[in-house]
Amino acid sequence: MDCLFCKIAHHEIPSLVVREDADTLAFLDINPRAAGHTVVIPKQHAATLLDVPREALGLFWQAVQATALQLHTVLQPDGFTIGVNQGRCAGQAVDHLHVHIIPRWEGDGGGSIHTVVNAPPTEELAKIHEKIVQSNPKS
Ligand code: 5GP
Ligand code: ZN
Repeated sequence: MDCLFCKIAHHEIPSLVVREDADTLAFLDINPRAAGHTVVIPKQHAATLLDVPREALGLFWQAVQATALQLHTVLQPDGFTIGVNQGRCAGQAVDHLHVHIIPRWEGDGGGSIHTVVNAPPTEELAKIHEKIVQSNPKS
């Protein structure tokens, strides 16, 4: 498989590594939106969050937290935007799960996750809720 982030995960393509363990790698985004903009990936290929084996998820999110803690300690930002672009419509360009950790500072001019899209549904909230829980009775 020709996957850019698999190659970065296996150090076949160089990156500026922020944190590494046996299962995950965090490295600086090549096109940072803020100082310290980092992406965290599982080393095992998974195109999206939906493709990650359940047993790998805990370690992965622990790595996201550890990376954010490292950035918090060193760069002392006022906050973070932490998120995933999933699917082309949402801006996913690399089909290997990656969590963006973007340090944020007061007055940096950026918005919140709510500024990513503003297409509220015409259908009632309760109807949408009903549909969602009907298809997943455990929720
Ligand atoms: P996406 O749009 O898929 O959520 O984000 C992909 C991210 O990967 C982008 O922010 C882009 O700048 C970053 N990126 C793409 N190619 C490389 C690369 O070769 N090295 C590094 N470090 N980052 C990359
Ligand atoms: Zn991959």
